[in-house]
Amino acid sequence: MSRTFNFSAGPAALPEPVLLQAQRELLEWSGERASVMEVSHRGAAFVAAAEEAERDLRDLLSVPSNYKVLFLQGGATQHFAQIPMNIAGVDRVADYIVTGAWGQKAVAEGKPYVRAQVAATSEAGNFTSIPARSEWQLSAEAAYVHYTPNETIHGVEFHQAPEVGDVPLVGDFSSTLLSRPIDVAHHGIIYAGAQKNIGPSGLVVLIVREDLIPTPPSNIAKVLSYAAQAKDGSMLNTPPTFSWYLAGLVFKWLKEQGGLGAMAERNRAKAELLYSTIDGSGGFYRNPVEVSSRSWMNVPFTLVDEALDKPFLKESEAAGLLALKGHRAVGGMRASIYNAMPIEGVRALTDFMADFAKRHG
Ligand code: PMP
Repeated sequence: MSRTFNFSAGPAALPEPVLLQAQRELLEWSGERASVMEVSHRGAAFVAAAEEAERDLRDLLSVPSNYKVLFLQGGATQHFAQIPMNIAGVDRVADYIVTGAWGQKAVAEGKPYVRAQVAATSEAGNFTSIPARSEWQLSAEAAYVHYTPNETIHGVEFHQAPEVGDVPLVGDFSSTLLSRPIDVAHHGIIYAGAQKNIGPSGLVVLIVREDLIPTPPSNIAKVLSYAAQAKDGSMLNTPPTFSWYLAGLVFKWLKEQGGLGAMAERNRAKAELLYSTIDGSGGFYRNPVEVSSRSWMNVPFTLVDEALDKPFLKESEAAGLLALKGHRAVGGMRASIYNAMPIEGVRALTDFMADFAKRHG
């Protein structure tokens, strides 16, 4: 087998013990004499596994009892539109804090369903920082304030959730959920596509304060309604059963690791090792993000000369370091170092980077 260190931004590496357990259980799961993919989502075995996954997620994130936890589909992209459908409407205003490409997409996709206003953006500086809170132009009548706690492409992360008063704060946590403890009660909605820190693609975890979804809106399909989904335990129609099951295994694995406090310590150490290698390279490698807003999950970096990109990628892949090519919007490289990436993987990368710089510098 040639499995190795995978720095993909998503779908991303999953914890190996989780994959091994899924492999063991693939043909016969939970005494069902069938795979988890081959049994009814309304059967006792799947319902029990689904409920256990929700309990474990609630434990990990300390979700208060007045929040619903939903297991949905459509990717985070669909929820860019579904959120305003559910908690706003075309006659309402919503404020967006844009710190990268995903925040921009959230605005564009939300626009048909709400009067989306950009209340602050760091676009002028190529999304390398977070606009000072004092400069945000928030409107008191906004239905919500949307932000992206971690911008996967630009590598910009909020290390503290912003204060926005009484207006519900909505966060697209796609590339940071479960990487550290967060204050759920500070938010109206927390949502994330699963394929980075949670499980396989095809699943969206969405946590919503009950009072924001009192009844299903009359002008949208029931399947798009968070209130209707909450009422039916996210089983209004067939949910993505395999992804939900696998997410449940990831939640168990996280608990075994010591929970989100322990993950935060590890993720901080991994990020520090990588940024210190970049900053200590004498300009051979460069990360453009303001130090206080650097992501612990996605680390973009460029090489001193673009002509070195190809050899870097070829040699790193040969050394067992996969998927380091950066997003075309920023160029260079990007190392995504989610929960499933061990410190040994980051060390292998930084050793390789030091050696490459020595040979090509
Ligand atoms: N938001 C963020 C922060 C992301 O990183 C991504 C995917 N990389 C998305 C939204 C879009 O997710 P999906 O492809 O699941 O719609």
